[in-house]
Amino acid sequence: MKTKILVIEDEVKIARFLELELNHEGYEVEVVNDGRSGCEKAISGNVDLIILDLMLPELSGIEVCRRVRRVSDVPIIMLTAKDDVSDKVMGLDSGADDYMTKSFAIEELLARIRVVLKRKEKKKQNSHTLEAGKLMLYKDEHRVLFNEKEVSLSKKEFKLLSYLMENRGIVLSRGKILNYVWGYDFYGDTNVTDVYIRYLRNKIDQKFEVQFIHTIRGVGYMFKENEE
Ligand code: CA
Repeated sequence: MKTKILVIEDEVKIARFLELELNHEGYEVEVVNDGRSGCEKAISGNVDLIILDLMLPELSGIEVCRRVRRVSDVPIIMLTAKDDVSDKVMGLDSGADDYMTKSFAIEELLARIRVVLKRKEKKKQNSHTLEAGKLMLYKDEHRVLFNEKEVSLSKKEFKLLSYLMENRGIVLSRGKILNYVWGYDFYGDTNVTDVYIRYLRNKIDQKFEVQFIHTIRGVGYMFKENEE
């Protein structure tokens, strides 16, 4: 069966362009032009991935993203008109998996689509063990090993590391991390994310002289292996 991509975009020219390019790549494409119908389609339909414009009539892209995330973890790539960090952070906070500015090259978008789809597939296949180089994380046993040596982590550190590893190669905003690890009703200091990232770096990156946790300036953090 073909992979189905829902494009929610009100600019007809861009929507048409995306439809043609994605069809050409072998994807099945459905286009809707406003946020409300986009949201309905996303929630009701069997869609494998959503390309979502930020500025939309009826419902904004951010609102669509929030509503879809309440019921589904379908991958969402958000399109923003301007290269504005606050837009990106807002998009990621609302649950988008990735973002692109509208000046994107189509090859880049296609590559991002493949990454996001592959990640989803991997998550489905192997949700109990996460691996990165010599680092192994066993979800069921709550254990982390580096080069077969036990790494002792607190509950929150463990949850944070699993979240980072599950989303490797993808930038996670502080807000998104906070929501996932500490929950939506957390009212403490948002710097708690930075503090726990530091703990993890001390226990893994620094201790074993590797670099898994990368800071993305102004946005958040990303887990990846050095050579990735
Ligand atoms: Ca728009």
